[in-house]
Amino acid sequence: MELMVVIAIIGILVTTAAPVVIRVLRKAESAQCLSTRRQVEQAAVLFYNNHSETSIPTMLQLVNGGFLNELPHCSAGGEYIWISNDINDLRLGCSIHFWEEEEEEEEEEEEKEKKEKKEKKEKKEKKVKK
Ligand SMILES: [Zn+2]
Repeated sequence: MELMVVIAIIGILVTTAAPVVIRVLRKAESAQCLSTRRQVEQAAVLFYNNHSETSIPTMLQLVNGGFLNELPHCSAGGEYIWISNDINDLRLGCSIHFWEEEEEEEEEEEEKEKKEKKEKKEKKEKKVKK
């Protein structure tokens, strides 16, 4: 009987914690992806400075030229695509994580939701006091 209770409590804890853990993991993945893309962008600028006659290099060219240690990849499985190939403003996008601006918007939305929830809570508390 006691064991059943313990198992039930563990089950509840796991199901309530899972979404939070998933969200944290996703954020970490997204941050990792962004940092990888920044590295590729820097490597591409270096490549470009050394081969001024070429256009923006492919990932393979960067690895073969020694500008990257290995082929970059997104841990969530996203594909990397050059969004801007202007050498002064190189931007590598990820098919899953896009690029930083959009990720920031997502965070703002989350904060808005939190605020709304807080306001609702406060309203409820006020009603209770009355
Ligand atoms: Zn990604």
